[in-house]
Amino acid sequence: MNDTRCAIVTGGSRGIGRATAIRLAQDGFDVGFCYHRDEVAAKQTAEAITELGRRVCYQAVDVADLAAVREFTERVERELGPVHTVVANAGITRDTPLAIMAEQDWQDVLRTNLDGTFTICRAVAFGMIRRRAGNIITVSSVAGISGNAGQTNYAAAKAGMIGFTASLAKEVGRYGIRANVVAPGFIESDMIAVLRDSVRDKAVADTALGHFGRPEDVADAVSFLASDRARYITATVLRVDGGLSI
Ligand code: NDP
Repeated sequence: MNDTRCAIVTGGSRGIGRATAIRLAQDGFDVGFCYHRDEVAAKQTAEAITELGRRVCYQAVDVADLAAVREFTERVERELGPVHTVVANAGITRDTPLAIMAEQDWQDVLRTNLDGTFTICRAVAFGMIRRRAGNIITVSSVAGISGNAGQTNYAAAKAGMIGFTASLAKEVGRYGIRANVVAPGFIESDMIAVLRDSVRDKAVADTALGHFGRPEDVADAVSFLASDRARYITATVLRVDGGLSI
């Protein structure tokens, strides 16, 4: 890439978001990322980006808060330049059977995963359209495609992200902007560290490749979709699940 481009990754402090922020820095992007509370982890991601010789701008921002996300995006654009690529990655789970699900668990998951996708895309959309350039990648889940017991809230949010991204792709394609989804299966991160051994064993058994993925496996898929090698790919859902969903 000749010109340095700027990318924003939400939830860049840990896991898939961190691996993606670092991968995009390796690809030549300056990177803005937000996180929720883990300042120590965020600093580690920022240091890794700086060590790669790329500029970084990071901040604690609740992705569900549109005004805060707007402010953050404006800061990134002031410091790093116009945002070319956005990765809507921040997410949480609050797994519980629907029959006993607290309303708060429903709302928290919808707000972080789905509202958080709306806010970051809303914050950058106008600028991308004006510049006739941009690339949006949302991080959904195979749960949003196939469903998963105990995850009605999470699957609803992740399925919503797929519909959102397909609709956005149809809206902005004419302006040279692409929008795609990656749908990970089980990826080794803090998010799945809470799984019971019996659940892990079954999940591994259900995965064709016989093991969980790493955050870097998803980051590589994002890197591809973010690159010009994916120039004719939009409104697609790329599963990165080791064959979990076959
Ligand atoms: P982690 O729990 O490891 O990291 C989550 C990241 O999101 C952290 O950076 C966290 O910040 C940030 N975050 C959480 N809530 C907010 C918020 N309200 N505002 C801003 N940032 C927030 O998760 P993963 O890396 O595993 O997951 C990343 C994405 O991939 C999620 O969307 C998840 O649903 C999806 N995914 C993950 C799978 C897996 O197996 N791991 C499978 C399928 C999809 P902080 O560090 O400050 O808490």
